[in-house]
Amino acid sequence: MKVVVNLELCQGHARCEDICPEVFSTDAVEGKCVIEQPEFPADLEEKVRLAVRNCPEGALRIAKS
Ligand code: SF4
Repeated sequence: MKVVVNLELCQGHARCEDICPEVFSTDAVEGKCVIEQPEFPADLEEKVRLAVRNCPEGALRIAKS
C-alpha cells in the first residue's frame, strides 16, 4: 500500500508527522507534508491510517500501490 498527499490541500499542521514520523515529515521551506516512505511497510499501516484520519484538511489518502 501507498500513502499520497494532496499538497493543494495540505496546510502544514504536521499532525501526520507527530503521529507517524517514520513515514511523514515536514518541508523546511514550505512547511508542508513530505512523504518519506510512500510505500510504507505493513507494520506501520495502523499508524499511517491514524495519520490519514487525523489530517484536518483531508489531504492524505491511501492508494493501492
Ligand atoms: S496533517 Fe494533513 S494538513 Fe497537516 S501536514 Fe499532514 S498532510 Fe498536511
